[in-house]
Amino acid sequence: MAETEEPTGPPDTLIDPIEMSKLDHKFREEIHSMPNGEELSACFACSTCTAACPIANIWNYKPHQLIRMILLGMRDEVLSSNEIWLCLTCFQCQERCPQKVRVTDIFFDCKNLAAEEGKVPPTIVGLGKELLEKGQLYTVTADWEREDLNLEPEVPGLSVDPVKDILKETRTGRLVGGGK
Ligand code: SF4
Ligand code: SF4
Repeated sequence: MAETEEPTGPPDTLIDPIEMSKLDHKFREEIHSMPNGEELSACFACSTCTAACPIANIWNYKPHQLIRMILLGMRDEVLSSNEIWLCLTCFQCQERCPQKVRVTDIFFDCKNLAAEEGKVPPTIVGLGKELLEKGQLYTVTADWEREDLNLEPEVPGLSVDPVKDILKETRTGRLVGGGK
């Protein structure tokens, strides 16, 4: 079996110089003032969060780097990054942080801020539309295993109206164009 190619070389953040004039020093306070940001300043860049993260090896910006970028005020880079959306929300980083930084929850806050500014990757918007229209993210297909399990050959349809009604009241509904 072919081995998966791993990215080589240092991450972008270690190559590109930081432009001081583009830093937004209020960003740190913005995150810090949110319910999850209380311990943000306690981060001492130990990288334990990155060591715990199951997918950090494919991220340009590792979890500890994203936290450092927030502390530095790199608002545009953080809110425009794919990484905050690729996070699996497995909480491994947050569980292991010796400084009790709420890493996963801070990434949630970043996603909310990015969404308010319309910086949501098209694939995420597409998933939201699927949820709004079909009440589920992925279509369950008929499968030979259903017969083995004495289930009906076709997957019963969902009643999506309650899901639509709920989503229309949420920011997700508004984001994908189905809300009030
Ligand atoms: S584990 Fe905690 S203290 Fe260490 S780099 Fe990550 S956020 Fe900072
Ligand atoms: S919650 Fe996200 S950032 Fe934290 S370990 Fe899991 S995938 Fe990585």
